[in-house]
Amino acid sequence: MIKELEKIVGKENILTEPDSLEPYSHDETSGFRVFPKAVVKPKTTQETSEIMKFANKELIPVTPRGGGSCLSGGAVPSPGSIVISFERMNQIREIDTENLMAIAEPGVIIAQLADEAKKYGLFYPPYPASLDTSTVGGNIAECAGGARAVKYGTTKNYVLGVEAVLPTGEIIKCGGKLVKNVTGYNLTDLLVGSEGTLAIITLAILKLLPMPKVKVDLLIPFEDIEKAGKFAQEILQHKMSPSTIEIMEREAIEASERYLKRKLKFSVGNKYACSLLIEIDGERKEEIEHEYNEIGDIALKNGALDVLVALTEREQERLWEVRNSISDALKSESEVEREDIVVPRSKMPEFLHEIKRVECKYGLKIVSYGHIGDGNVHINILREDTPEQEWKAKIPNIMKELFEVGLSLGGMISGEHGIGLSKKPYLEMALGKQQIELMRGIKRVFDPNNILNPEKIFPDNK
Ligand SMILES: Cc1cc2nc3c(=O)[nH]c(=O)nc-3n(C[C@H](O)[C@H](O)[C@H](O)COP(=O)(O)OP(=O)(O)OC[C@H]3O[C@@H](n4cnc5c(N)ncnc54)[C@H](O)[C@@H]3O)c2cc1C
Repeated sequence: MIKELEKIVGKENILTEPDSLEPYSHDETSGFRVFPKAVVKPKTTQETSEIMKFANKELIPVTPRGGGSCLSGGAVPSPGSIVISFERMNQIREIDTENLMAIAEPGVIIAQLADEAKKYGLFYPPYPASLDTSTVGGNIAECAGGARAVKYGTTKNYVLGVEAVLPTGEIIKCGGKLVKNVTGYNLTDLLVGSEGTLAIITLAILKLLPMPKVKVDLLIPFEDIEKAGKFAQEILQHKMSPSTIEIMEREAIEASERYLKRKLKFSVGNKYACSLLIEIDGERKEEIEHEYNEIGDIALKNGALDVLVALTEREQERLWEVRNSISDALKSESEVEREDIVVPRSKMPEFLHEIKRVECKYGLKIVSYGHIGDGNVHINILREDTPEQEWKAKIPNIMKELFEVGLSLGGMISGEHGIGLSKKPYLEMALGKQQIELMRGIKRVFDPNNILNPEKIFPDNK
């Protein structure tokens, strides 16, 4: 196998030693680790196609890999697999200022894409907290969301076309530099969020927007999480559209402060339960001022303890650094089980109440933060010093109970992290047998030999 792969990508672009395979044996999901047989690093679509033709002929499982930041086990290698890592396919081929689009290879890091677009006065809105490590290919495969989805939508709203390699090795091109296109089934949209189980993305055409000229961030502490939930809802009822409405429980902020060795300055000291981070952007300073004053007034009427305004880019970056470090900070202090249930936005206060109930019932600390404006708060169950056996026994029950609550409120079990390995036992309770059978049919058409991420998503695939 190695000899054949060497013929395709060259000896220097294959890893087979256990030490060099270790970083590819897991992603950011707790509790999953599988060593692949080899990691291959193609430079072109053609090489990727040849790897897939070989793997399909020999029935070798394949796991594509971007930044390895997945939170549902999607980038964990399948047993006996080859990992295809896109770290050498990392070029931004074009920023098209006539069509307001970018063309990027799968290994391009999201922050680099956003920075490159900014040089041309353009804006790539998807803003996952993993923007410094996650890639175009991985974001498309997971349909990454992130903080700005409340105003700008998720990755699917920006993918206009892809080039992809099928599990059988053929290369397809879907969509294009087109604002609209209804020519046949929309296979581009089908591939977005397919978690690397249908095809491998080797190039993407992405929509860009003009860069908003003004931006302000508000940090608003509350003494009570449910009040914060009601306030978030009220902003939307006032028909305002901030680009982010993020929540951070105090424990999340404090963990991030310890991690960064730096404190956020709250006038209320530590007498708050959570804080909302709201970003407002737009074209004119006066409009933005009007909007943030109005949001501040609504906040104070809803029991906010204070409204802090970050006007300069430096102040704003420092706030977002705290927000974007929470996941790593929590993980650095304790084993964490992370869920990303999504509920209708109107049900968020009820859902927050239920999370607290589950926390009391099971006696494990739960810290929540994330995209409250999208109804998609990230729930972090901390192991801390809980004995392993007790932790392992409680987690499936807590997950099931939280999923049941989410579904009963009209929600779904994942808003943006995907099903992967960690949530597949729960897929049927969310979708039912019939939808899963339709999905299986689609999988068979794309991947007749079931070699691409074979054991992901579907409940009974081992
Ligand atoms: C600190 C932190 C913060 C995060 N914040 C957010 C957030 O705000 N919003 C959010 O949505 N997610 C977030 N995530 C989750 C994660 O970053 C996203 O799911 C991201 O899209 C994964 O991208 P990646 O490049 O790391 O992909 P990987 O983890 O490498 O892979 C993810 C999946 O995509 C498949 N894949 C990778 N490349 C390709 C390709 N070229 N073609 C086909 N399939 C491919 C893999 O097989 C795997 O199934 C966060 C994760 C961390 C660790």
